[in-house]
Amino acid sequence: MSDQNTLRVDVIATTRFTPPDDVPWSTDADGGQALAEFAGRACYRSWDKPKPATATNAGYLRHILEVGHLSVLEHAQATLYIRGLSRSVTHELIRHRHLSFSQLSQRHVIDDPAFVVPDPVADDAELSELFATAARRTREAYDELIEGIQRRLAGSEGATRSKRVRQAAQALLPAARGTEIVVTGNLRAWRQLIAAHGSDHADDELRELTVTCLERLREVEPNAFADFVLTDLPDGRRIASSALVTEG
Ligand SMILES: Cc1cc2nc3c(=O)[nH]c(=O)nc-3n(C[C@H](O)[C@H](O)[C@H](O)COP(=O)(O)OP(=O)(O)OC[C@H]3O[C@@H](n4cnc5c(N)ncnc54)[C@H](O)[C@@H]3O)c2cc1C
Repeated sequence: MSDQNTLRVDVIATTRFTPPDDVPWSTDADGGQALAEFAGRACYRSWDKPKPATATNAGYLRHILEVGHLSVLEHAQATLYIRGLSRSVTHELIRHRHLSFSQLSQRHVIDDPAFVVPDPVADDAELSELFATAARRTREAYDELIEGIQRRLAGSEGATRSKRVRQAAQALLPAARGTEIVVTGNLRAWRQLIAAHGSDHADDELRELTVTCLERLREVEPNAFADFVLTDLPDGRRIASSALVTEG
């Protein structure tokens, strides 16, 4: 098991919006943020745009966020493929009940996954060595367990034996073990995640993941996340906050 793992977040799916051709309205955005505007306007048939402040998609969604009409954001979805995060963080991530998850199986996938080294450890040579030594010993013990359990289950049915071997040995693997996960959520649920874990009080790895998710989501649906402010703290950590967030 190697010591280092690098966070990577990719947007792999977003909402495609097809406006009906009989509605006298168009906007200057597309995808999920255009759909959110359409849904909001559909409530009042407000297809005309008399107010300059809400005449653009950015202005309209800003108004939606300000008045808390957040349910229109639930029509639009985004899916992220996240790699290089720890099982410790996925355990916290999956507590968010409006997101959907598909995570790498420890029982089926045999490889040599890396550990995610916490920043205060990675930044210190002595602590990094301590962490690397513990990781190496864990891997050695894991391999010994695999061999021992294989011997013990030698007579059992072949198709399930390898899974039973790995599922028993994985009990030893630490929370820092790297993993991969596909996460789908509507834009309101993604905002709730960012509001909950983007702050200085959140777990460091989860906060950095949350900030990175925000950056990726802004690349595809900028107006739905425009209110979040990214701040670099003096110690190099990044936080995300919004004056408009009223839930999370
Ligand atoms: C700083 C911090 C520290 C934490 N520490 C701990 C800890 O020590 N131990 C621990 O176990 N967890 C901890 N958590 C996790 C936390 O308790 C939540 O499980 C997690 O953040 C998911 O948030 P949520 O339940 O608000 O919302 P989600 O599941 O994301 O749902 C979003 C919103 O939908 C609504 N909602 C969802 N389900 C229901 C429901 N059944 N009934 C009513 N409303 C609902 C709520 O308004 C909720 O805020 C911590 C979270 C943070 C941010």
